[in-house]
Amino acid sequence: MKIRRKGKLSEGEWVILWESKRRYLIQLEKDKIFHYHKGYVQHNDIIGLEEGSIIKSSHGGNLLVLRPTYADYILEMPRGAQIIYPKDIGTILIWGDIYPGARVLEAGIGSGALTIALLQAVGETGVVISYEIREDFAKRALTNIENFLGRRDNHILRLKDIYQEIDEEDKDIDRVILDLPEPWRAIKHIDKVLRPGGILVIYMPTILQVQKTVETLESFKSFTLVETIETLLRPWQIEGLSIRPYHRMVAHTAFLTIARKVIIKEESIFQKALPSVETEENFEPN
Ligand code: SAH
Repeated sequence: MKIRRKGKLSEGEWVILWESKRRYLIQLEKDKIFHYHKGYVQHNDIIGLEEGSIIKSSHGGNLLVLRPTYADYILEMPRGAQIIYPKDIGTILIWGDIYPGARVLEAGIGSGALTIALLQAVGETGVVISYEIREDFAKRALTNIENFLGRRDNHILRLKDIYQEIDEEDKDIDRVILDLPEPWRAIKHIDKVLRPGGILVIYMPTILQVQKTVETLESFKSFTLVETIETLLRPWQIEGLSIRPYHRMVAHTAFLTIARKVIIKEESIFQKALPSVETEENFEPN
């Protein structure tokens, strides 16, 4: 069953019931009852409602009914491996320049959070190929993906160790995204399948991984414009006169290293990217 995005709420759909401080992800089923600390609500009373409705529980609680967004969904879905958080997924999609029709290869699939975003971004004309060594993770990821997007025939799963090899069929890849403990071990295989002009994005929680990865990329004559960034997201409180950042924020998730595939670079001056923040100023008018 896939998440619908519009129309009246129907049986089989996932919805989020919002309370002031809590939220519950449920799948609507005929004659089922949802229980929580303020009593219960009949699924039958939610089916057929407009998204954005408020429903009263048996003990006078109010619940706001909304469909989950992509970000809501990945935070709530069952996971084994740690997922990539929405703030980093946003950056990956843009810095990785994932476009409709692209052939994208990722490793590993984990819980499938990134995979869903990639499938949405490449659309029906693109392809996503996921490498994963753990069958149990892959199974859960496929269920998570199917629950959100429905069955997709442009998604290929390879139960393989990407450090060992990349399948012969997976050639002419436009974009590669890695979320692996030792990404540098996959680079020699990626070098063979990523097309010139292609982009590699690597997600790494520690800076020691970044150092090893950048050194490895720089040892290849076919990767250039190597850049490392991190995304900090700082939520603000806007309440009366108290207008300031919240006291708490997620201080760290991971770094992203991005590199561009070229035919063969002879000159080392092309090794490093100009920092992204300066990009606009550095474009020479012609
Ligand atoms: N990006 C995923 C999370 C990936 S977690 C998400 O957003 O949900 C890292 C995954 O890489 C794990 O599932 C792990 O089993 C897998 N993995 C680790 N080493 C691997 C290898 N050599 N080849 C393929 N997959 C690997």
